[in-house]
Amino acid sequence: MDASRAGAQLTVDLGAIRDNYRLLAGMSKGACAAVMKADAYGLGMEQVAPALALEGCRVFFTAHLQEAIALRQLVPEHCVIYVLHGPPPGTAKDFFQYDLTPVLNEPGQLQEWRRLAHKLGRELPAAIQLDTGMSRMGFAPADLSALGDLAGVRPALVMSHLACADEPDHPMNEAQRRRFDSLRGLLPGVPASLANSSGVFLGPGYHYDLLRPGAALYGINPQPGRPTPLRQAVSLHARVVQVRSVCEGDVVGYGAHHVCAGERRIATVSVGYADGWQRSLSGRGQAAVDGVIVPIVGRVSMDSMGLDVTGIDPERVVPGAEVELMGPTLPVDDVAALAGTIGYEVLTRLGSRFHRRYL
Ligand SMILES: *Cc1c(COP(=O)(O)O)cnc(C)c1O
Repeated sequence: MDASRAGAQLTVDLGAIRDNYRLLAGMSKGACAAVMKADAYGLGMEQVAPALALEGCRVFFTAHLQEAIALRQLVPEHCVIYVLHGPPPGTAKDFFQYDLTPVLNEPGQLQEWRRLAHKLGRELPAAIQLDTGMSRMGFAPADLSALGDLAGVRPALVMSHLACADEPDHPMNEAQRRRFDSLRGLLPGVPASLANSSGVFLGPGYHYDLLRPGAALYGINPQPGRPTPLRQAVSLHARVVQVRSVCEGDVVGYGAHHVCAGERRIATVSVGYADGWQRSLSGRGQAAVDGVIVPIVGRVSMDSMGLDVTGIDPERVVPGAEVELMGPTLPVDDVAALAGTIGYEVLTRLGSRFHRRYL
């Protein structure tokens, strides 16, 4: 069976991801890491990580230990893998076994790592994350005294995360940068990292020694509302299952919410919310046939949804034909805007149900 003839097809352009990495890395005098959490934002860490390593990426971030263990097999030994959530209680030995570097976010994680260092009688590297105002992860003001005694831990990186980097004029950016500069004094001489994708575009004052982009690598626009310098990396094509003609007053989909105003042609395509396609696109999303946009009509079902293809040549929209849900005509950020969410959620929710093709 040719799996690519059935169901939908997700195409990931590894060349575009490599180009995006090169562009971002070239913006700073320092180094550039790649954030791999959530299976490389849903695109497949197994393919994306080696492609970025070939492009010269030597530092990777995952969210969880399990992701990092999987990543360790995929990149050269000398690559550094940081785990953003740090070591949960009892896991320090797993970090050591797989040569993973924890990001330490609070005193308990520091203790977990120090205990292992003490037991092994050697220094262990770690990144230290400081909370500069987001109140999510990192040493909070009340925790800072714990950094006074790092014995056993070698701080390899000091980092923080910006809450509003995608809003360049937001006063939080400058406030967090200043706070970072002042707190960094606790760890003199340690390489620093502050910028996620959007942070890179706030300018050199935010770059420090290591950039940490995720989204921009995968084609999400780091500067919403402005033209993106990055390449789209993902396209999603559904297949037509069935086409029908409907009359005025006929309804389409669950809840009978879409009532046809006249004679229309409706194509049912093979993608639904169980594929990770946002149900909020019901009645407001779009698809494209050879660059011509057509509306999603009625509710998105579990495995399918309806498109109004009245304006399209009937010979083009037949069972088995492909229609674009995301790609050159419909960039991920546009799909996200129609769904009422952000490109990050659109990508990370794309299910494992698609036939995947890597370019
Ligand atoms: C997710 C994440 C990043 C990457 O953010 P993007 O906006 O996707 O570039 C960087 N740093 C931390 C701490 C993160 O959690």
